[in-house]
Amino acid sequence: MAQAILLDGDALAARLRSEMKTDAAQLIARGIQPKMATVLVGDDPASASYIARKHADCAEIGIVVEDIRLPATIGPADLLAQIAALNADPSVHGFMVQLPLPSGLDEATMLEAIHPDKDIDGLHPLNLGRLLAGRPGLLPCTPAAILTLLQAHDINLAGADVTIIGRGPLVGRPLATLLSQRGIDANITLLHSRSGDLSAATRHADVIIAAAGVPNLITPEMVRPGAAVVGVGISYVDGAMVSDIAPGVADVAGWVTPTDGSVGALTRAMLLGNVLRIVSSANG
Ligand code: NAD
Repeated sequence: MAQAILLDGDALAARLRSEMKTDAAQLIARGIQPKMATVLVGDDPASASYIARKHADCAEIGIVVEDIRLPATIGPADLLAQIAALNADPSVHGFMVQLPLPSGLDEATMLEAIHPDKDIDGLHPLNLGRLLAGRPGLLPCTPAAILTLLQAHDINLAGADVTIIGRGPLVGRPLATLLSQRGIDANITLLHSRSGDLSAATRHADVIIAAAGVPNLITPEMVRPGAAVVGVGISYVDGAMVSDIAPGVADVAGWVTPTDGSVGALTRAMLLGNVLRIVSSANG
């Protein structure tokens, strides 16, 4: 059976980084040094490794990073003070607070404290509200990465039936809004853990996007031949990363993300794209 075309987010991210390196060099030549900050609270190894990858991408592109590490025992007031200091620092164009936060720190409160114009994760309620209202703003990175991946492979979205599995506030819910907005024009079905039979909706979908974090959730029988299938959710089974997309899906789908990969590199590219967007809009 024909194998699906690979939706290779890593390769696309590498291309975008090389374009951003050129953009950053032009800014630096004008005397403008793009700079972002990352805030890591606690010592969760997965979060530390996500931060390390962001820093490596910044180094490649030419974005300077302020690496802020805070103890897991920090109180809400001290974290809010750190966020306020970054909001006020004119040398920092944008910053992000790595999630999840240790217990005792309310994530929504912290995200809301970030100045919306420095919100490179695109998760401040004002930026999410702009997305909902169809107004320009900083887009949340994983939904933007998924849209970029589909568009880069010329996958038709206008009038297409797109089934999204997972209604989380970082991925599924904003993605549904993004893909249904005027100009992209997809028809959205948004499923979740209480939807019941997922395959009733996935079997007819032109595009399936799984953002649930359930290993091998989407099996070949759930996929219409020729459909595009994007695995966003990842989980770890016996130490190995497993996608929401089962391996056999590649035999049925027209396009599919790798079963040992996700959209992480592309998500980081969107984050750094937001930094350069902020710098450019501030400097004409
Ligand atoms: P979340 O916990 O906020 O949301 C998960 C969603 O999946 C929920 O809406 C839940 O109802 C749904 N769900 C869970 N089990 C289900 C099932 N059996 N059937 C149908 N729906 C089910 O998580 P999130 O932050 O939205 O992240 C989702 C996944 O995407 C996670 O695995 C996360 O690791 C991954 N992720 C990857 C990236 C990346 O860049 N690669 C970025 C963000 C999130």
